[in-house]
Amino acid sequence: MGLLTEGSPLTWEETKKLSQHVREHGIEQFINLYSRLKDRQGDILKWGDEVEYMIVKFDDENQRATVSLKAQEILAQLNEKELANPTEVKSLWRPEYAAYMVEGTPGKPYGGLMAHFNVVEANMRYRRQEVVALLAENETVMSITSFPRLGTPNFTTPPYETTPDDESSAARSLYFPDQAIYPGHPRFKTLTRNIRQRRNEKVSIDLPIFIDQNTKLPVEGSSSDKPNFVHLDAMGFGMGCCCLQMTFQACNINEARTLYDQLTPLCPIMLAFTAASPAYRGYLTDTDCRWNVISASVDCRTAEERGEKPLKENQFRIFKSRYDSIDSYLSPAGEKYNDVPLVYDKKIYQRLIDGEIDHLLAQHIAHLFIRDSVSLFSEKVHQNDKEDTDHFENIQSTNWQTMRFKPPPPNSPIGWRVEFRPCETQLTDFENAAIVCFIVLLTRVILSYQLNFLIPISKVDQNMQNCQKRDAVRQGKFWFRKNITGTNAGTTTIENGLNDTLNNTNEENIDDEYELMTIDQIINGKGTFPGLVPLIHSYLGSMDVDADTHCTIQQYLKLIQRRASGELLTTASWIRQEIINHPDYNHDSVISEKINYDLLKKSKEIQDGLRLCPELLGYHNSSKTTDNIPAAIEKHLTKKCN
Ligand code: ADP
Ligand code: MG
Ligand code: MG
Ligand code: MG
Repeated sequence: MGLLTEGSPLTWEETKKLSQHVREHGIEQFINLYSRLKDRQGDILKWGDEVEYMIVKFDDENQRATVSLKAQEILAQLNEKELANPTEVKSLWRPEYAAYMVEGTPGKPYGGLMAHFNVVEANMRYRRQEVVALLAENETVMSITSFPRLGTPNFTTPPYETTPDDESSAARSLYFPDQAIYPGHPRFKTLTRNIRQRRNEKVSIDLPIFIDQNTKLPVEGSSSDKPNFVHLDAMGFGMGCCCLQMTFQACNINEARTLYDQLTPLCPIMLAFTAASPAYRGYLTDTDCRWNVISASVDCRTAEERGEKPLKENQFRIFKSRYDSIDSYLSPAGEKYNDVPLVYDKKIYQRLIDGEIDHLLAQHIAHLFIRDSVSLFSEKVHQNDKEDTDHFENIQSTNWQTMRFKPPPPNSPIGWRVEFRPCETQLTDFENAAIVCFIVLLTRVILSYQLNFLIPISKVDQNMQNCQKRDAVRQGKFWFRKNITGTNAGTTTIENGLNDTLNNTNEENIDDEYELMTIDQIINGKGTFPGLVPLIHSYLGSMDVDADTHCTIQQYLKLIQRRASGELLTTASWIRQEIINHPDYNHDSVISEKINYDLLKKSKEIQDGLRLCPELLGYHNSSKTTDNIPAAIEKHLTKKCN
């Protein structure tokens, strides 16, 4: 998403009246875009990360930490450099949902050089320093996924009262004041209001509390039928969390479809792996991830659509929130694993087919388009469907799923891309860089070795729920494909091979293809299953890598392996441990002001490299990351590629 342009948002009533208009034109725009760009070839691997951050303020005198609602002011300064020199800046900054959040990306995407892996972390460090330079001494910027006391009284600086009874309030939350929504662009409040109005009630999020010896039930604010749940009632509880995303450009649309499919089964695995958010509204909960929170925080479905009432006003029973894991694969290889029923409007599907879009892509787009627009600007209502793509993007960009299939923007040098969206942010640049490099390397290995991770979508869905449970990395088991390298581990005879092909659509056959595995097994390998990191090592063995980059990548892979094996803690487990072992903790699941302050202070010291944290990072965690690729390496590799 580029710098947001200003605009006048329509009310929900106006937007609702135009929802069919947005859908119809969005579909025409996609058909035109597809016919222009489907044959686009020869784009090279480019990729980039997005890290979201919170601005946190420490009040040392009162031993309190709050989120600081300064993002708009800080962004205005951060964007100055970009506005003056858009092609040469080292970082780009964008607003996010909350008034305490900013999102940073590298100034330009990285390319296909191995040496690029060595600049990711330095760029992240640069970004952090850029923000810190604009903050007061008692403030900092932190890549934490959920702020533990979000939604407790006075959790913001400056503090604000909530106004649940005020009809002009966007969220009408008991806990999350409208002032904590990013004020610099109307999009965010409009989304908040429209989602609430479409649903006919506030969003409703219930998280199981972590039950400790002295936990008091019912939890304060819980619904009467859910006494052991922490109840949250605003979009900000989810969209006000930070995440780590990566986008990859493929050489053409088919490669993009393959990557989209192959990365899909890895989403729950990486969510479990990056788990970093066990605390909400001042309570320790029994989940480790933000996913279900954010999913429910923008769930605009009505009671009819959720299946709680018979359909009367609405067209469909819809099984998931618009923020959730994907429902169908896009490549021919994925087709037979599409085993969950896809809801879509047959007429829209038929229009796409008549527009020469194939079945798999047509059903994907038609499924995205069951959603109404929840944010429409008066300036954007009438568009030229041959050139504009705003109506398409309107629906596409408010389907917040684990993976996103991104078509090339109009009139740009950018190709077909896929975005990997499940990961939670880690405290340090080292960890975030390690995760980004791991996933980018995995895309290279997937394409070079033609790896196959496909399992039925229904199994990916089951994994999505299991991966969020407490300590899923060490205790969870996940459906995963047994044979990912395509060679049939020694047992294939010609007859077997033939039977396999003949039985392609036979469900029993598919069910033999996967089994339950631990994250350790998936990442480190076991028995005949090679493991993702060993596959990356083998790939790297065939690459020409300079010594510094090699060393950096090794450090990253080591971190990944040790987290997967359970030797090092996930961020979520570390946060839990800090809370539970705090001298002030009363074993009642409550995170007091002081516990929150100490936890965040310690986290800041770790992020700034002022404190070792071997249980989280191990001892050897300084990479050779550098701001620039040495000229000699750049030349050398460019020459080799020719
Ligand atoms: P969104 O929020 O819609 O995902 P952003 O613009 O915030 O989009 O982030 C896009 C990401 O894609 C950034 O990490 C950026 O570096 C990266 N990127 C930009 N151009 C390309 C490209 N041609 N190919 C792959 N990635 C790209
Ligand atoms: Mg972004
Ligand atoms: Mg973002
Ligand atoms: Mg993104």
